Amino acid sequence: MDLFSHYGRLLGIGEEWKVADVKLDMANLRVDIYLDYGEKSAPCPECGALAPMHDTQEERVWRHLDTMQFTTLIHARPPRCKCGKHGVRVIDLPWAEKGAHFTLLFEAFAIEVLKRVRSNADAMKMLRLDWHQVQRIKERAVKRGLERRASEEIAFVGLDEKSFLSGRDSEAFACIMTDLDGQRVLDVSRGRSEAGAAELIDKALNPVQQFMVCGVAMDMSAPFAKAVRERLVCADIVFDKFHLMKHLNDAVNDVRRAEHARLLKAHDKRLSKTRYLWLKGLEHLSPEARKWLDGLLAENLATGKAWGLKEAFKEFWRRLDVTFARSFFARWYDEVVASRLRPMIRVAKMFMRHIEGILKWHETFIDNALTEGFNAKIQTVKAGARGFRNFENYRIAILFNCGKLDMLPVV
Ligand SMILES: [Zn+2]
Repeated sequence: MDLFSHYGRLLGIGEEWKVADVKLDMANLRVDIYLDYGEKSAPCPECGALAPMHDTQEERVWRHLDTMQFTTLIHARPPRCKCGKHGVRVIDLPWAEKGAHFTLLFEAFAIEVLKRVRSNADAMKMLRLDWHQVQRIKERAVKRGLERRASEEIAFVGLDEKSFLSGRDSEAFACIMTDLDGQRVLDVSRGRSEAGAAELIDKALNPVQQFMVCGVAMDMSAPFAKAVRERLVCADIVFDKFHLMKHLNDAVNDVRRAEHARLLKAHDKRLSKTRYLWLKGLEHLSPEARKWLDGLLAENLATGKAWGLKEAFKEFWRRLDVTFARSFFARWYDEVVASRLRPMIRVAKMFMRHIEGILKWHETFIDNALTEGFNAKIQTVKAGARGFRNFENYRIAILFNCGKLDMLPVV
């Protein structure tokens, strides 16, 4: 076998293409492979019917997998055929996708590398690519993955917000949608408005998929509810238990802050440095911390009372039957009102207004714990990119790393 047919084999380009020339540049560690199309006809890319050759386009170059340490480039003039039905068309090239500057094998290899490196910069060095080339490969990979995902049924989703930039205005946030069973991020969109949520739902799920969603876990205070009701018409809204517990923790903290300020005026420092004592769950406290907490609980403080009401609410999640959970909530609510602790009463009233959606947990058992789990990974993605120039790059990075997408080109 001569060198040319050997290269043809290596490239896996099929009988129709011939290696016309191979140039080895020893000084620059580079191989240039020139391909020619040898046939008089080709299948039309639209209909597959055999059509006669028409002409060829300008020569183009594709980066292929390196041969040893030699950068390997493929040169060819894309042929055009003339289909009776579709006119003059560029034929499909077996080694690359339309518009790509890399061969399928190179792109598949680059995707595997990108999945394993900590940052784009590392991948750039290893693959000898610039930032834009890496970004284009990721974008095409995510696009492929999203197209392949389009027909799957997704029953339970989570909606949450995440800070994207520093600041408190809506644009500093991103909405994120997760597939709770599939444990993956479905999509992200900018802002935390109702419009942002609507855009997110439309991006993440096609109309048929939207119809098939059975439940959505989200926070009560999120502005998403209207968008969810309009688009996910068959879905139950389930208020997320972790957000509920966070509202309760915040209320306990408000009670502590006010009481601490009151006590300090009388030079009473009992509540100094106790913030985490009240917020951490009992199961996370060290034996010494537990002793400290027990001491404070014996002293009839308002903070202790608020803490007790918060801890008691955990029982709500142990009542797995809706009827029992409902009667538990009614008794707990009365206790909170009787406590006269205003921050706690405010939260209890908010729960009461949303009680039907809160009780949906006892039918679906879904929550947003998964989204919390993605926080760390997204943080790594953010650090690796050293800040995102724009939101779309941030989105691509999250989908590339947390989307569990099938991204490889078909080689
Ligand atoms: Zn055709």
